[in-house]
Amino acid sequence: MKETLEALLKEALEKIQAAEDGRALQEVRVSYLGKKGPITEVLRGMGKLSAEERPVVGQLANEVRDEIKAKLDKKEQELEEIRISKQLAEQKLDVTMPGRPVPQGSRHPLQAVVEELEDIFIGLGFSVEEGPEVETDYYNFEALNLPKDHPARDMQDSFYFTEELLLRTQTSPVQARTMEAHQGVGPVKIICPGRVFRRDNDDATHSHQFMQVEGLYIDHNVRMSDLRGILDTFVKRFFGEDREIRLRPSFFPFTEPSVEVDVSCGICGGKGCRVCKQSGWIEVLGAGMVHPKVLEMSGFDPNEYSGFAFGMGVERLAMLKYAIDDIRHFYTNDTRFLSQFKRV
Ligand SMILES: [Zn+2]
Repeated sequence: MKETLEALLKEALEKIQAAEDGRALQEVRVSYLGKKGPITEVLRGMGKLSAEERPVVGQLANEVRDEIKAKLDKKEQELEEIRISKQLAEQKLDVTMPGRPVPQGSRHPLQAVVEELEDIFIGLGFSVEEGPEVETDYYNFEALNLPKDHPARDMQDSFYFTEELLLRTQTSPVQARTMEAHQGVGPVKIICPGRVFRRDNDDATHSHQFMQVEGLYIDHNVRMSDLRGILDTFVKRFFGEDREIRLRPSFFPFTEPSVEVDVSCGICGGKGCRVCKQSGWIEVLGAGMVHPKVLEMSGFDPNEYSGFAFGMGVERLAMLKYAIDDIRHFYTNDTRFLSQFKRV
């Protein structure tokens, strides 16, 4: 018995020594110390031994088992240390290496322009109003002095759901709704940014969907000079302090008098060039004094109140500011285009 146990111990220690990884070691552990292993078998067979032999063999078997177990644990720890140091040697960390770039999104240029406009006009005392994109014929046209048979409606052909319901062609209905909500009591001083829709043929400068920002100021004694002052301040803040504005007579059904507003060309400084078609000026927006009829329809007394309104295309402003040559770039989701506006 004693010889058998000593042979077992020698054999097990050799196998432990030879084990190269945790798996081999686990196999040794199971085959020598497991329930079906040779040591358990020796202990089971003790009944056949004499009373003198029993404690001697029992003690030896326990000693052999403990030694195998201790050697297994030691070897396991050694193997783990080897594995870790090998891994550390393979994975050297160079803290001077440049980091991997994290892809970063950016605001859409149109959104960036809208936010810039909001900042400018909030600074001038305006608040921001929004309204529905699906609008009634009344708010989109009639409340703005465009009755059903008005020829100016042809310029704003739209997408109709029913006779009375359409995708709004302008953000002016937000003005009409806000005026109505004020119930004839001023002041009203708002800008309305938002998407509008027209049945346009899409080309480099036209899109069936685009963005507008309109402004409205109604109060006692609002004059044309107030409109000019606000627009001049806006143009200087948005395009640059060296830019000037020019007002030309025009026609809109909801304002009287109405004007087209030009800004001095930023390329040639007003001398004339290809961009401004040699005129020195570039058209940026339409404006005018709110038509007395529009005031009246919205519940304001035209004898007591006056006001001005203006409207501009966000795409056009963005195209002028960033020298973009095709309006369709805004809608094609090409990251080569969009990623140029990271710091806008
Ligand atoms: Zn020019």
